[in-house]
Amino acid sequence: MEKNYDAIIIGARCAGSPLAMLLARKGHRVLVVDRATFPSDTISTHVLHPRGVAALARWGLLDRLTATGCPPIHTYAFDFGTFTIAGNPGTAETPVAYCPRRTVLDKLLLDAAAEAGAEIREGFAVEKIVMEDGRVTGIQGRGRNGASVTERARVVIGADGRNSVVAAAVRPEQYNERPPLLAIYYTYWSGLPFDGRFVNWVRPNRGFAAIPTHDGLTVTVGGWPYREFEQNKRDIEGNFLALFDLAPEFGERVRRAKRETQFAGATTPNFFRQPYGPGWALVGDAGYLRDPITAQGIQDAFRDAERCAAALDIVFRGERAFGDVMAEFQRERDQAVLPMYKMTCQIATLEPPPPEMQQMLQAIHGNQPAMDAWAQMNAGTISQEEFGAIAAGAQPV
Ligand SMILES: Cc1cc2nc3c(=O)[nH]c(=O)nc-3n(C[C@H](O)[C@H](O)[C@H](O)COP(=O)(O)OP(=O)(O)OC[C@H]3O[C@@H](n4cnc5c(N)ncnc54)[C@H](O)[C@@H]3O)c2cc1C
Repeated sequence: MEKNYDAIIIGARCAGSPLAMLLARKGHRVLVVDRATFPSDTISTHVLHPRGVAALARWGLLDRLTATGCPPIHTYAFDFGTFTIAGNPGTAETPVAYCPRRTVLDKLLLDAAAEAGAEIREGFAVEKIVMEDGRVTGIQGRGRNGASVTERARVVIGADGRNSVVAAAVRPEQYNERPPLLAIYYTYWSGLPFDGRFVNWVRPNRGFAAIPTHDGLTVTVGGWPYREFEQNKRDIEGNFLALFDLAPEFGERVRRAKRETQFAGATTPNFFRQPYGPGWALVGDAGYLRDPITAQGIQDAFRDAERCAAALDIVFRGERAFGDVMAEFQRERDQAVLPMYKMTCQIATLEPPPPEMQQMLQAIHGNQPAMDAWAQMNAGTISQEEFGAIAAGAQPV
C-alpha cells in the first residue's frame, strides 16, 4: 500500500534527522529512511564547532548531548612548530565545542526526529528514485524484510551523503569543483588525555590533531597531500605514527598511550551541487562536499537542515512556490559557505601559510582576544573579515 508524505528524506544522520525533526515539529508528514540502523558509526571524525552546538541548543537537544558525558572543548590550539596560537572558539552564549561520537550524536538526532512525529525506517535501502514527467515523485527500496516498497511524497530530499542516490538520479549541476586534496586517517586512544583542548599541529605537507571525545578516549586525525595517497596507503600505520614525531613531545605521549581502534580514513572531492529541482532537494554532504580538514560538515549539515525545513514549511503551507524559496536556499547556502570552502581547500593543500599570514600569526601570538578570534575563524564562528579586523587592531602600529 502506498501512503503519501509531504517529505521523504533519504539519510538519517546530521542533515536528514534534524530536517525530519524540524518538518515534523511543524506538523508535516515525514518519512525518513536509512540503509543503516542506529546507533552506528560512519567514516568521520566528529568535531562539533560552537555554531553546531548552538543549533543543538536551539532545537532543545544540547542537554541530551551533555548528559552523555561528552567532554566540552574550550580551547583550540594551533602549533606551528615555533609558536602556538591558542584561543576560545566560541561566543559568550556558546563558549564550547564538543567532539561527540557519531554513534551517540546521530542516534540522538534520529530519536528527536521520531519524537517529533517523523516516521523512521532503519535498514531501508533506496534503490531507485521514482520520476514521472521529469519530476521526482517518490522512492523505491527494500526494507529489512526484503520486499520492494514504493513510497510517494511532494518532495524527496537526499540527505544521503556524498554518493547521493538522489543526485545520481537527477544529475544536478556541479560547480566550484576541486579534486581530492588530502588523504585523512584517524584512530582512537586511551591514556592520552586532552583536557578540553583540540590541538592541531601544522607542519610542511603534514597536519594532525588530537581531540577528546566520549569514554575518556582521544581521537587523533592526520593526513598528507593526496599525491602521496597511493604510496602511503601501503603502510598507513607507519606513516600515521610518523606524523606524531614531527611534534616529539606528543609523539612520546602517544607511545605511552593505548590505541583502541583500527585506522579509518577517506579522501574527499570538493564540490557544490544545485540543491533542488522538480520534486527533489539535497541537503548536507549530498549538496555540498568539502575536505574534512576544517571539520565544517556537521554544522553545515545542521544549517542546511534548518534552512531547508524553513523553506519547505513555506511551500507546504502554500505560501510561496518551491522554485522561489529553494533558489533562496541555494543562494544563502552558497554565500554562507563559500569563504570557508575556499579556506578549506587552501588549508587542505598542507602548504605552509603564506608569508604575510605567518607574520600576522606571529604578531597576534600572545594577544588573547586576537588568538580567540583566530580560533573562532577556524571554527566558522566568525568570518575571515571579522578576524582580519581584530588581527589588524592587534598588530603593533
Ligand atoms: C575522515 C572524515 C572526517 C570528518 N571529520 C569531521 C569533523 O570532525 N567534523 C565535522 O563537522 N565533519 C566532519 N566530516 C564531515 C562529516 O562526516 C559530514 O559532513 C557529515 O556526516 C554529513 O552528514 P550528512 O547527514 O549530510 O551525510 P552522512 O553522514 O554521509 O549520512 C548519509 C546517510 O545516508 C544514508 N544513505 C545513503 N544512501 C542511501 C540509500 N540509497 N538508501 C538509504 N540510505 C542511504 C547512509 O546510510 C547515511 O547514514 C568528516 C568527514 C570525513 C570523511
